Amino acid sequence: MLAQITKRFFHNKIILLGAPGVGKGSYASRAAKALNIPHLTTGDFIRKEIAEQTELGKEFQSYTSSGKLVPDKLVIDIVKNALNNEGKNGFILDGFPRTIPQAKALDEIISIERVINLTQKEEIIVQKVSSRRVCSNCGHTYNLAHIKQDGIDMPPLLPKIENTCDTCGKENTLEQREDDKEEVVRHRLKVYREQTEPLIKYYENRGIVRNFPVTGGVKALLPQFLELLKKD
Ligand code: AMP
Repeated sequence: MLAQITKRFFHNKIILLGAPGVGKGSYASRAAKALNIPHLTTGDFIRKEIAEQTELGKEFQSYTSSGKLVPDKLVIDIVKNALNNEGKNGFILDGFPRTIPQAKALDEIISIERVINLTQKEEIIVQKVSSRRVCSNCGHTYNLAHIKQDGIDMPPLLPKIENTCDTCGKENTLEQREDDKEEVVRHRLKVYREQTEPLIKYYENRGIVRNFPVTGGVKALLPQFLELLKKD
């Protein structure tokens, strides 16, 4: 089904909003592949700098480890560079903007066509995020939990071969992110409510926001998600 997508019917300057752990990365990576546009994620960029222990990485770590946001100026510069280098023919932004000043800075560079707001109950997010595992070699994400409650059915996302990453083939590399521990997740959700949620209104005024309740696994829901990226 993905191969049949005709790009001209779809928006291609896209933002994904939603609480941390709601599944933005899972949808963004698959939709970006289907539309053949880059998936730009500030979280991955920040984690890469931290893993390499660069000066910038050390500064980032002092914020991320306690669930705080990195200062606007630093992330805005990252996104400006990424859009200049790879975003000329469209992009899906995942994890940016996260504050009103970031959204305003983005407005000065480019005109966003579609914002998808992924929604989910906080308690389910906490369960899901604390069961998330990430390949320390390539960043591919898995989930150990099968969440089945309140009409929601989210099967686990497990590697095809136990303890082996599907994407890079390395063994025993699945780890829990430091900031996926429950107390940090709860703090990240609070920061989300205070600083990021106001962005929904910010973009709603332009009529470009579509809400997407995450009621199941990404494999089952991807076609519905892609529908929301279609031009009206
Ligand atoms: P994520 O994987 O998107 O949840 O990002 C992980 C962490 O990186 C966040 O908890 C923040 O500390 C930081 N981060 C990522 N994107 C941004 C952003 N747009 N603004 C500020 N901090 C960010």
